[in-house]
Amino acid sequence: MAPPRQGRVLAIANQKGGVGKTTTAINLATALAAVGERVLLIDSDPQGNASTGLGLTHEERDFGTYELLMGAAELHETIRPTKVPNLSIVPANVELAGAELEMMDLEHRTHRLKHAIEGRLADFDHILIDCPPSLTLLTVNAMVGSDAVLVPLQCEFFALEGLSQLLRTVERVRTTLNPTLDVQGVVLTMFDKRNNLSDQVAADVRGFLGEKVYETVIPRNVRISEAPSHGVPALIYDHRAPGSTAYMALAREVIKREQALRDAAE
Ligand code: ADP
Ligand code: MG
Repeated sequence: MAPPRQGRVLAIANQKGGVGKTTTAINLATALAAVGERVLLIDSDPQGNASTGLGLTHEERDFGTYELLMGAAELHETIRPTKVPNLSIVPANVELAGAELEMMDLEHRTHRLKHAIEGRLADFDHILIDCPPSLTLLTVNAMVGSDAVLVPLQCEFFALEGLSQLLRTVERVRTTLNPTLDVQGVVLTMFDKRNNLSDQVAADVRGFLGEKVYETVIPRNVRISEAPSHGVPALIYDHRAPGSTAYMALAREVIKREQALRDAAE
């Protein structure tokens, strides 16, 4: 009998804040769940925006990513359901802000997330990790525990500069800690078709990274920014909004890239 299919782990990372990591984590997770995939979102940003955006109350956040990293809880004890069928979350609570410092004194400090999730990968098809806006220990833990990194990139002037630094970090993690880590793709976010700069940045990024850039581009769309205050993903708030349909298209591309890897491995 074939071994059970292992879920693929994707770290959603970019050291810049406000580029669309959390928005992508929430809506890509929802879009994957909407087509029947079993999805777990791990909120690894102390700001907890993914947990808030998915409507989790503070009581529901008593156990989460912090407890997982500290070894104070098993994965199954930290998982909470969401209003989205097929989508669960490991929430972030305020304690997570102290995790970077506290992990410094612990053994295997770069592998703590990996060790916490690796026995349970078959329970899901996709595990997405929403990273904080830094390249420090929380993001390194996410990259060590992941198969690949998905990079949201805002179409703005300094986008490429930040991207080089991120890619160097991925390379360093690959050579030292996780030899199979890959960049699954770069998704252009908050694209504004009335702004020439958006077009220019998109062309530059495609020229630099070629097919690593997803065909799908996420437009700037007010429905996307309104949704979190209602505690639901944009895809549920308004599934016909341009931002929502873009995330559905991104989910299809992500599935296609993962399927191609699985086919190549067989
Ligand atoms: P990050 O997690 O990288 O810090 P967020 O996903 O929180 O970034 O996005 C930053 C802000 O931009 C949020 O207020 C979010 O609602 C808004 N935003 C993200 N993507 C879009 C979009 N495509 N259209 C409009 N607003 C967006
Ligand atoms: Mg965020």
